[in-house]
Amino acid sequence: MTYMRELYQQVILDHNRSPRNFRELEDANRRACGDNPLCGDKITVYAKVENDVIEDVAFQGTGCAISQASASLMTAAVKGKTVEEAEKLFRAFHAMVAGGADGQEGEADTEKLGKLVAFGGVKEFPARVKCANLPWHTLHAALSEVDAPVSTE
Ligand code: ZN
Repeated sequence: MTYMRELYQQVILDHNRSPRNFRELEDANRRACGDNPLCGDKITVYAKVENDVIEDVAFQGTGCAISQASASLMTAAVKGKTVEEAEKLFRAFHAMVAGGADGQEGEADTEKLGKLVAFGGVKEFPARVKCANLPWHTLHAALSEVDAPVSTE
């Protein structure tokens, strides 16, 4: 268990140090801004959606290691997926970091989550859960074409 935990920490540190898809997406047709005032995380998520497929996705922002790594892993996970698949992943991720406590989704589908399971330990740190969730809430807003900025508060 300790070994797995360290492995997961490595994944998070790696994605924080060299985030994937960290750029502005010039031809994005979806975008949203997210803000986690409790920690000071700010993020903009860009997506290019064609025929319900997320052709490209990128993000920019500043914040703690958890929020940056979560955004990085999220963009890598949803690129090439359909909007519906991305929303399913969002719900599975949310269920995992919330410890499956909201009930509706039941147990987190760790098989589907792949590398995202690295954030499973976040549920032990309630303040960090918002950091991990922020990029996903922001992506969700971008895909739903919600115009208002996202805030965790
Ligand atoms: Zn944070």
